[in-house]
Amino acid sequence: MEPKETSSERLFEGVKQFKEQNFSSIKELFQDLEREQNPHTLFIGCSDSRVVPNLITHTLPGELFIIRNVANLVPYYCPDSENYLAAASAIEYAVNVLEVENIIVCGHSNCGGCRAIYYSDEKLKDLPNVKKWMELAAPVKAQVREKILKARSAACKRDEFTAQLNVVEQMKHLLTFPYIKERYDAGKLNILGWYYVIETGEVYNYSTRTEEFEKI
Ligand SMILES: [Zn+2]
Repeated sequence: MEPKETSSERLFEGVKQFKEQNFSSIKELFQDLEREQNPHTLFIGCSDSRVVPNLITHTLPGELFIIRNVANLVPYYCPDSENYLAAASAIEYAVNVLEVENIIVCGHSNCGGCRAIYYSDEKLKDLPNVKKWMELAAPVKAQVREKILKARSAACKRDEFTAQLNVVEQMKHLLTFPYIKERYDAGKLNILGWYYVIETGEVYNYSTRTEEFEKI
């Protein structure tokens, strides 16, 4: 029996295979991208290993500028805050320097980060950073409760509603950035909210008209 490949061996082998197979097939693209990038979209997705932005949008290197964090959160605008700098600086760069045309906030099914907003303090005791970070999704909890009551949906829809309403909440946070609001109002920037279903590969787009997620 062959010895089982360890995960680190798998990564090193993967690098070699990338160079030999994938890279050579898009070598010219990488040469064009050598000096600068000109992505059309800022994609804000979850760190979850199952959400792969280029794969689900069928895009190439150079097209998406990507922020990934726990539960695809967006901080509120605060020019001199020392919090949330990683997310805020990437947003600033994407919009003001790269002048992206679209911002996508993409949530997904079975999001562990979203579920954490329901955890007790006891359960969050070893996750102080997650606890603090997830404060950005705090308003979602009450919205979910209301939606379950209003739609008379079973409570089992809680996780799905949480991930979806979290996307809508984070879209609102984007509009607290004055330079985003300005471009959005001028029609120079689209803000999209997506919900990706892991087990089916389907993506739902949030309609601001119907306030529902509609299958793309
Ligand atoms: Zn997630």
